[in-house]
Amino acid sequence: MQFAQLHGNEALKASLTGMVDSGKMGHALLFVEEQGMGAIAYALALSQYINCKDRSGGDSCGVCNSCHKHGKLIHPDVHFVFPVAAVSSLGESEKKHPISDYFLDGFRTLMLSNPYFDEQDLFDALGLENKAGNISVHEARDIISKLSLKPYESEFKVMIIYLAEKMNAEASNKLLKLLEEPPEGTYFFLVCHKPDKLLPTILSRCQIIRLQPDTPEDICEILCREENADADRAMVAARISHGSYGSALKVLREEELSDEYASDIRSLLDAALEHNLTKLLAIAEALTTPGREKQRDFCVYAENYIRKIFMFANGVPQISFALQGEYQDLGRYAAQINKDFYSKALASLDTAISAIESNVNAKLIFVDLCNRFYIYI
Ligand SMILES: [Zn+2]
Repeated sequence: MQFAQLHGNEALKASLTGMVDSGKMGHALLFVEEQGMGAIAYALALSQYINCKDRSGGDSCGVCNSCHKHGKLIHPDVHFVFPVAAVSSLGESEKKHPISDYFLDGFRTLMLSNPYFDEQDLFDALGLENKAGNISVHEARDIISKLSLKPYESEFKVMIIYLAEKMNAEASNKLLKLLEEPPEGTYFFLVCHKPDKLLPTILSRCQIIRLQPDTPEDICEILCREENADADRAMVAARISHGSYGSALKVLREEELSDEYASDIRSLLDAALEHNLTKLLAIAEALTTPGREKQRDFCVYAENYIRKIFMFANGVPQISFALQGEYQDLGRYAAQINKDFYSKALASLDTAISAIESNVNAKLIFVDLCNRFYIYI
C-alpha cells in the first residue's frame, strides 16, 4: 500500500516520510485514530516506505519485490497482531492459546478489501462469535520470539499491532522491555482508538502519531468518485461520520442495503395507521423470512426511522440527517402518528432485538411487534 492510495492526512504523510528520510523516526510509533480512519493502512504504507529500495517523491515505488509483498500482506518481515479469542473453529490446542497467526486469512481478506475497517468489522471478519477479543500474553510471547530472529528479506522488521489497548496488563508488561530496547532494525507500529486505556509505561515509550479527521466535503467527494455514490446520500454519510472516511463508507453501504428495510417499515406503519390487522399479520410473516441477522438489522433500521419521524414531529427535521427523498414520507407520518407512539415503539423494537439475539421464535417476535404497532400508533 502506497501513501498515494490513502485518503487525506497529507501533512501526516509528509511528516512520516520526512522522519524516515532524515533518520529521525523512533522505533515505536503509536497511531491514534477514530474508528475507520485507516491508521493501520498508514502503518502499512510506512512499513512499505521504509523497506522499499526505490522510493521517491515521498512514497514507495509500489512495484519492487518488497512493495509487492507488502501489497499482498505476505512480507515475511512484516507481522500483524490484533485481538483474537478462543473460538470454536480453532483446534483444541490452538484454543488454549489463540494468537493472531491463526486468524491471518480473515484479517488479510478484510484489510485488502477495505483498509478503513473498524473494530466490529475486524471481529466479524475473524469470526470471533461475539467473544471479546484481546491480545494475550501468549501473543506477547509469540511477538518476542518472532522479533528475536534476523529479518528474512529486508533490512527491517515491522510489528504492526492493531488495537493495542486490547493488550492485557500481563501482555503489556511482557512487551515493555522490547518496546524500550527493540532488537536493531525493528519497528513497532501500534494503532489504538483509546490511548487512555494503554498502560502509561507503554504510552511513554511511543512516539504519538495522531490522524486528523477529513472534512465532510472531502469525504463526500471521494465517496462520489470512488464508490459512485449519490451526492445527497454521500453528504449525509460524511456529515454524521465525524471526519472518518471508513465510518462514512459504512453508513453509505448500510444505507444502500437498507432500501428494502425502508420499504418494510413504511408498509408496517401504513398498515398500522389503517388499522388493517390482516395486512399487519402478512407483514409479520414476511419479516420472518430472512435470517436472524437481517431480522435484527431491520429492527435497528426501524428504530432509526422512527427517531427521524420523531424529529420531524418535533419541528427539527434538520437534525434527523434524513435524505431529501425521505422528507415527504417522514412528514406524512409525523402528522398522523400519536405522540406516545415513539417511546413505546422504540421499547418494543429493543425487546424484539433482544429476543432475536436469544433465538426466540421469529414468528412470535414479529407478530407481537406488529400487534404493538397496531395498538400504540
Ligand atoms: Zn518498492
